[in-house]
Parts: sequence; structure tokens; C-alpha cells
Amino acid sequence: MTTDSVWRGGPLGDRAHAVLAPNPGPMTLDGTNTWILHAPGDDVAAVVDPGPLDEGHLQAVLRRVAERGARVALTLVTHWHHDHTESLGRWAELVEAPIRGGGHGTPFDDDERITVGSLQIRALATPGHTADSVSFHLPDADVLVTGDTVLGRGTTVVAHPDGALGPYLDSLAKLHAVAAERPTLLAPAHGPSHADAAAVIATYQQHRAERLDQVRAALAAGDADAPDVAQAVVERVYADVPREVWPAARSSVAAQLDYLRATP
Ligand SMILES: [Zn+2]
Repeated sequence: MTTDSVWRGGPLGDRAHAVLAPNPGPMTLDGTNTWILHAPGDDVAAVVDPGPLDEGHLQAVLRRVAERGARVALTLVTHWHHDHTESLGRWAELVEAPIRGGGHGTPFDDDERITVGSLQIRALATPGHTADSVSFHLPDADVLVTGDTVLGRGTTVVAHPDGALGPYLDSLAKLHAVAAERPTLLAPAHGPSHADAAAVIATYQQHRAERLDQVRAALAAGDADAPDVAQAVVERVYADVPREVWPAARSSVAAQLDYLRATP
């Protein structure tokens, strides 16, 4: 094990803090990171992705907010997937604050500026993993909260047909442009945080280009004529990933096949 494979949450700079939920798995890695966004001295905080329905986790998030001398004034959701939203009903009983994102509350405008106390938050539309995926940029803290669009380890799934590869590649380019302006910290929804968001995003862009080349090559090698094209491509291109994530790989392959049909 390398040191960064042990991730338990914790602070990222002085305005972001991850509380790790106890829902590890092949898709959630170590579990869902619930990010608390809070400027030191403020009496209000924002919470991103309360996560799975686990009372102990929700109480741990509230304890951490209280330890910072704050209360939750706004809940933000990066996208609708259950490992980010399952607890929202219970969370709404515990916290009297608006919830936005993942189909709740007022939808975000792209590049909308949100203020929580003295903290500035930019909501960036980053569709691709899902159609509703958003990321949050803290310009004063140089933190990028990426949900499942960019993870702390490995790569993410383009969850076809809700997600789509064309928008996903555009979203990576948008996030890279933000992260390349100044040194920016990466706050992903799964896996460890990173000091250099731009470098991680660049790796994602390179990975996507390589996978597309592999899918093109698989089609040229005969998979285009297979009875189940997506399955044939998964078995060839994703031979190196554990079989338990093949259903997710198939979803990503379907997204790539769609993308290649539209952009030969
Ligand atoms: Zn997730």
C-alpha cells in the first residue's frame, strides 16, 4: 500500500474539510467524502454531499461543523447518485438550511456565485459523469470540489446514457482551465485530496484520449462486428480492471461508442 491509499478525510487548506462516510466499495473507493466549506471565524458553513444514510456519519459532519464554531447554512449536492443523496431526507430533519443540487432546490446557473458568510463559492456546470453534475470552486481558497467528475484515485465512470462523453471532455477542459490559473487543491467526492488539481485533471484528459484510441482500435480489430459490440470492447479494452467494475466499464464504453458515432 502506498501512503495515499489510506484516506480517512481531514482538512484541505483552512476552508475545506472532508468527513469520510463509511460506505467503501468498488465504485465509491474509500467511501463518500462529505466536504465542509467554511471560512475561519464565520458562524456559517456549507456542506457538500451529505452522502449515504448513516446516522453516525451525519452526526460526525455536524460535530465537525460545530467544532468550527459554525452551523450549516447551505447544503450543496454535486449530482443525484445515491451515495451522495441517500441521506438528504434525514439531513433535512437535522439541519434547517436550503438544499441545492441533485434535483433539489433551485438549479444552479453555470458560474453562479454563491456566498456563505465570507466564503465565495462558484458553481460550475460540469456534466458528463451525470447530466446534472456540478463542481464548486472556492476562488479565495484555491479549492476545487469536483464530486465524481474527477476522483482522488483511478478514473470515473461516464454513466451512459445519463452521462455523455462529449460534455464530459468539455467539463474536464473547463476544470483544467480553472485549476491551471493558480495552484489549486483538488477536493474529490471519493479518494484522497490532492495538492495539484491541474495535474490530476490533465491525467484524466490523457486517460480519456488513450481509452478512446483503444476503443477505436478494438472496433477496427473486429469488435465492430460482434453481436454485442459494447461487451466485446469491454472484454478487450477493460481486461485490466476488476470484473466487479465491468458493468460500470460497459456504461463508459457505451458512452464512448456514442461519442465516436457522433465524432468519427
Ligand atoms: Zn459517488
